[in-house]
Amino acid sequence: MPPWAEARTLVQALRGRPGGLCVLTGAGMSAESGIPTFRDALTGLWARFDPAELASEAGFRAHPQRVWDWYAMRRDGVRRAEPNAGHHALASHARRWPGGLVLVTQNVDDLHQRAGHTDAVRLHGDILADRWLQPCPQREGCATTRAQAGRPPRCADCGNLLRPGVVWFGESLPAAALAAARDAAERCEVMLVVGTSGAVWPAAGLVGRARQRGAKVVIVNPSPSEIDAEAHLLLRGTAAHLLPLLLDAAEPGP
Ligand code: NAD
Repeated sequence: MPPWAEARTLVQALRGRPGGLCVLTGAGMSAESGIPTFRDALTGLWARFDPAELASEAGFRAHPQRVWDWYAMRRDGVRRAEPNAGHHALASHARRWPGGLVLVTQNVDDLHQRAGHTDAVRLHGDILADRWLQPCPQREGCATTRAQAGRPPRCADCGNLLRPGVVWFGESLPAAALAAARDAAERCEVMLVVGTSGAVWPAAGLVGRARQRGAKVVIVNPSPSEIDAEAHLLLRGTAAHLLPLLLDAAEPGP
């Protein structure tokens, strides 16, 4: 039996049991939608900048316009992209088995949401959202309606800067999302890991956590990753190709 068919048997055996399947996705999930993975995003025009400069608060404070422009370019790419067959396969599995799948994503794009997955646990924030760089010194807080146009926009009252709503290097993950992700990893019977290098923590640690609690780990990735040793089944292929094979309606009904 090919490994993808073994993986499909594992998923089918869950028959939608609540929380039975936890799916952890990374940048590779959206690669076939045309959104570059982290490594790809740092090539080309931006190759001469270091990630700490483009994705950290210190980098933003040092070069706000450069960082804002880099995110503006990435936001344009996200808005132009469409969910691929992998996003749709996950969303349709979740519709078919309500509560049976918990989706945890490291992605900051909105392609899972646009495919219909409104309850994804978002570990690293939302690239399309803005938030203020620091708590506003004004009593009533800054209002985005009073943001002055600029790169980046500033609060018209206090000069506070807008920044993208993503988690940067050195920042904590949203506590509620991390707790929900850990809970899902500890409760699941199968963890499906799609398109992540396993290099970014604490997200990468969810895989070992699931395995230690007895879950079967299935990794979908065309290339080796840092967490391959945690896998019971390694599927060498892409998200858009393999997820429909694993999850689509070849499943028996409830
Ligand atoms: P990563 O860039 O470190 O690794 C991407 C992984 O995806 C690699 O292992 C690669 O082999 C694999 N991959 C490439 N094409 C694939 C495909 N078609 N199908 C399946 N896998 C494929 O990404 P990461 O592990 O998610 O960590 C990087 C960080 O960058 C994350 O925090 C994430 O938030 C952020 N990021 C997000 C996006 C996005 O939202 N789309 C894009 C770039 C970076």
